[in-house]
Amino acid sequence: MKEKVVYWLTGSQTLYGDDVLAHVAQHSQEMANYVNGRVPVTVKYLTTCKSSDEVVAAVKQVNADENCIGIITWCHTFSPAKMWIKGLKMLQKPMCHFATQYNEKLPYDTIDMDFMNENQAAHGDREFGYIVSRLRMDNKVIVGYYKDEESLAELAAWCKVAAGYAFSKTVKVCRFSDNMRDVAVTEGDKIDAHINLGWQVDYYPVGDLVQYIEKVTEKEIDALMAEYAEKYTMATDRIEAVREQAKYEIAMDQFCKDHGGYIGIVDHFGALHGLNQLPGLAIQDLQGKGYGFGAEGDWKIAALGAVMQYMAGQKGTGLMEDYTYDLKDGLCLGAHMLEVSPQFAATKPEIQVHPLGIGGKSDPARLVFEGISAPEAVAVSMIDMGDRMRLIVQKIELVKYPHKMPNLPVGGLMWKYQPNFKDGVAAWIYAGGAHHTVVSSELNVQDMVDLGNMWGVEVVVIDEHTKLNELKQQLLWSDQIWKTKL
Ligand code: MN
Repeated sequence: MKEKVVYWLTGSQTLYGDDVLAHVAQHSQEMANYVNGRVPVTVKYLTTCKSSDEVVAAVKQVNADENCIGIITWCHTFSPAKMWIKGLKMLQKPMCHFATQYNEKLPYDTIDMDFMNENQAAHGDREFGYIVSRLRMDNKVIVGYYKDEESLAELAAWCKVAAGYAFSKTVKVCRFSDNMRDVAVTEGDKIDAHINLGWQVDYYPVGDLVQYIEKVTEKEIDALMAEYAEKYTMATDRIEAVREQAKYEIAMDQFCKDHGGYIGIVDHFGALHGLNQLPGLAIQDLQGKGYGFGAEGDWKIAALGAVMQYMAGQKGTGLMEDYTYDLKDGLCLGAHMLEVSPQFAATKPEIQVHPLGIGGKSDPARLVFEGISAPEAVAVSMIDMGDRMRLIVQKIELVKYPHKMPNLPVGGLMWKYQPNFKDGVAAWIYAGGAHHTVVSSELNVQDMVDLGNMWGVEVVVIDEHTKLNELKQQLLWSDQIWKTKL
């Protein structure tokens, strides 16, 4: 992510004279350098804009730079905002308005008109904010001293999300199956997703993958088996079944690389012609390496998973499915028939081979483990409302399994809902949240809201502040707003 660049643009004007402008440039450079060392991307001071032409030139540079994923703006002095109109209208990348200051405290004893003229961010940031608001730009505002830890944490998070937004535009999903017959929520408008989220979603017959599977050599399988042996505990003597999964993994990975770099994969237990097992271990290990995966043809979750994995640094993130409740203790057990990412493992995953009642294939090898706990995680769903995508973000707490489940041979997670079990579940259902989600212990609600805002999609948050009646009103209003927005 450090290869990605965020340019720092300072707003000013020529009114104050060369001395002041020299200070403005020097301070901006110093501040950008300080921030650069504390966020996951590279922050570079670009320029101080003093005229419309300078803003336009800076924005052209920002737009053209492939590595640039966004800009930070700040007004050291007053910067008359008519000069920002042309440039901001051209801006194609996310913008964060950092309402900060070079000095933290006011120098009460020495402050004079010269100091006040040179350091008037409170004045300048409002003029700038007006024109951004007038232009209906959905930017981010972060307030605070630039060396303050909280401001820096917010800035770091925003940079991470902006990088995720840029990554989203490169996401390609390879579908080895259509959506599961009769299932509604995994459907969606792929062209809409391509236009608004940047996801290219393509279909290949599973037979094309079978050709790749047939070409995998014993030597290649040996190498991957050695990798498995390092990461996982081999808890089966049915090695051939495990080697079969290794073969699928090598074939899928190679297929994705040979066809233009797919980073998301979709399959379906009902469309496995030419495969002996449902890919389990294969998909789990690929998710562990950064692939997004959607089961039963769920391409939205595959793409969302790839983006969230990128933002999360390939930790604690992957496909999840709300499966079954403990109504007594207010918990949900999430899992899938096989394909739960080892990034969720609290215990060293065991490779086991068991029958699978669904799909009618041979017993598949899979990773079995207990899930991690995390005080704050998110469960995220992307649904197609027919006229737009809705991103639903639920704050959850991942908890340790309260009891062993010796007869359940899959990886899983258990969690608690916000604001409480009843309202958390009801809110998810009212919002239309799917059974497939991407869960992440490394991302929070604000990250996902910021990403949703960059995408320009409807975002519904369910957290400790959620009140059911208000949520229902919000959904009602939101529906009207999104209809007129199109
Ligand atoms: Mn499923």
